[in-house]
Amino acid sequence: MKKIDKENLYNLLEVSQSYLRGFKDNTIQMPNFSDDIDNSLQTEKSTENKTKDLKVSTGITLETLNEKILKCDRCGLCRNRKQAVPGVGVSHPLVMVIGEAPGADEDAQGEPFVGKAGQLLDKMLIAINLSRNTNCYIANIVKCRPPANRDPLLDECSSCMPYLETQIHILKPTMILAVGRVAAHNLFKTSDPVNKMRGNIYDVHGIPAMMTYHPSALLRDESLKRPAWEDLKLFRTRLDARLRELEIQKK
Ligand code: URA
Repeated sequence: MKKIDKENLYNLLEVSQSYLRGFKDNTIQMPNFSDDIDNSLQTEKSTENKTKDLKVSTGITLETLNEKILKCDRCGLCRNRKQAVPGVGVSHPLVMVIGEAPGADEDAQGEPFVGKAGQLLDKMLIAINLSRNTNCYIANIVKCRPPANRDPLLDECSSCMPYLETQIHILKPTMILAVGRVAAHNLFKTSDPVNKMRGNIYDVHGIPAMMTYHPSALLRDESLKRPAWEDLKLFRTRLDARLRELEIQKK
């Protein structure tokens, strides 16, 4: 049975049960279902939690991966999307920027961060000599737009994670910049508040990673712009240090 069918069935049963209870508690905690049939991204035998244990696909090109993402039906988000949004940027990026999920503009255009938040993100990157056109790759934790721009659910993030892990594996960026709480929580496997994560370096599959505020948060709250700028400067300093380190190792 496909993951999406299991989710539909589960939803139906939960809603019926909720109806019998008079809709007193309408929060649905979706378990981690996985497909019985399409495990093509799975390269290692999984243990008890298939979705969580899906591993990166090695020996796959970015183009093939993108084709898989565009056809993906691993979770319910595929039902309402116009299109999936795999990512955009150069093929040997210095930095991989990772956001949360596509919004309405991204869903319509098929490219991450093209709305107002995206324009601000581009400005933030340019301020530290980074750009999706020259030295960055931009992607999201989930590749399809969540309804009404809600946060992606735990299950949606874990269903989509093998795509991101495969992107990281193929692109091998020098550093990763997570933008926003949702991206950082999923990448760094923590639930720490933003203020505790800022300034730290995390290891994401062997790649040093840092986080800053999501550009949407900066649009909502101007006072976050200064701390975000401090984060970006620190990120650039660490990136330059990492580049020097790699250069020394090559010699
Ligand atoms: N917000 C995100 O996190 N990602 C996008 O692609 C657009 C807005």
